Amino acid sequence: MPTVYFVIPCYNEEEVLPETVRRLTEKINGMIESGRADRQSRMLLVDDGSRDKTWELISRFHAENELVSGIKLAHNRGHQNALLAGLMTAKESCDCAVSLDADLQDDIEVLDQFVDKFIDGCDVVYGVRNKRETDTFFKRTTAQGFYKFMSVLGVDVVYNHADYRLMSRRALEALGEYKETNLFLRGIVPLIGYRSDYVYYDRHERFAGESKYPLKKMLAFAWDGITSFSVKPLRMIANLGVLVCFVSLIGVIWALIARSFLTAGFCGVWFLGGVQLLCLGVVGGYIGKIYSEVKARPRYKIEEYKK
Ligand code: UDP
Ligand code: MG
Repeated sequence: MPTVYFVIPCYNEEEVLPETVRRLTEKINGMIESGRADRQSRMLLVDDGSRDKTWELISRFHAENELVSGIKLAHNRGHQNALLAGLMTAKESCDCAVSLDADLQDDIEVLDQFVDKFIDGCDVVYGVRNKRETDTFFKRTTAQGFYKFMSVLGVDVVYNHADYRLMSRRALEALGEYKETNLFLRGIVPLIGYRSDYVYYDRHERFAGESKYPLKKMLAFAWDGITSFSVKPLRMIANLGVLVCFVSLIGVIWALIARSFLTAGFCGVWFLGGVQLLCLGVVGGYIGKIYSEVKARPRYKIEEYKK
């Protein structure tokens, strides 16, 4: 029987944690009874530098409930880094680890299927959402656009898979070898390449508290995903440059024929100015990334580990 760790990043989740821990405790006990997980299995709650009572709660659960372990990060490092901290800690003691969100939007009833596939020999099991009716129209369409764009760029991401996934210990060890600062786990995990499979589930509504991914963070996350896995935008701006040159040339010819030099000149200059700024922005984005990768600062610091 495998030792299964359930790794849960938590940022200001005092409202949902008691219920999450209660439901997962029930679930894990069920899995132990049905022979899918052994008694060393745990949930590992990672406090990502919360400002509310999240860590107090985790400490209390740890004292009362032998299925609960906790990690406290020294700062808020974001969902991906918090998850990584948990997974890298889990890999020391587990046979496989499942990552899930604190708000239980990911249906925990399918956890059995994850572990069954692991027992059958899969190293990575991706949770894939059947439908996204619980998400807003805006989130659904932007997400769809994102997956499309990623596939145009040639990046291998699993469609409608968030970070609900199981990884075996050796997949976790492989993950540990990817040292990038700009972390986008959904892009890295398929690169590992071990045998994988899917589990389909319905995504629920967050049952309390608010999303910790406002629009600004979501866009930053999408940008990270694109620029960490593809340099095609750099090529795209070069193509754009060619296109703009061509169009301006036609514009100049037209202006010469129509004899409206001033208007054409102004429009052309503004247009080119805009294109240059856009292109500089994209190049700058990549340079910024090189900057943070070269510094290679630690991605997280664990302040406390309640085993
Ligand atoms: N989270 C985190 N650090 C952050 C932001 C979010 O650890 O800086 C956690 C959060 O507590 C939750 C998970 O990441 O467990 C997903 O966040 P959320 O449910 O708010 O995102 P959504 O489901 O709305 O995309
Ligand atoms: Mg959520």
